[in-house]
Amino acid sequence: MLTIPKTLFDKMIRHLEAGYPEEACGILIGELDDPGHPNARRVHDVILVANAWDEVNPREGRHNRYLISPDEYIRADHEANRRGLEVVGVFHSHPDHPSQPSETDRQQAWPGLSYVIVSVREGKATTVQSWLLRGERDGFDEEALIVGN
Ligand SMILES: [Zn+2]
Repeated sequence: MLTIPKTLFDKMIRHLEAGYPEEACGILIGELDDPGHPNARRVHDVILVANAWDEVNPREGRHNRYLISPDEYIRADHEANRRGLEVVGVFHSHPDHPSQPSETDRQQAWPGLSYVIVSVREGKATTVQSWLLRGERDGFDEEALIVGN
């Protein structure tokens, strides 16, 4: 379960809509809501990141690929540690596609992080889902996403 305060949720959505028709992305930092439940996380901040993907060919451009540069991860990790928090997830948009993880998403995913995917159609966010990579790396399980306080 991932809980995102409404103001941060809105900040994330605005960033993803502004990036349309390219994929946009960012990092979620926060903490475990309940240390007894390792998958119950609360987001404390949303770090907006530029899509660093370099187009490989017309079929793999920023309209369907994203990349968060290692420098951005390191910066987010330091920022989180400074505040006694940790990186709890990553978010990105799927322009004109469903909010389900792609094969590329599966290959790039790290265990233990929440992957929030937002479907953005014609510039407007539609569905939002959060995913956790399975231990066998053979796919994702959806987790509950709570937009709250
Ligand atoms: Zn994706």
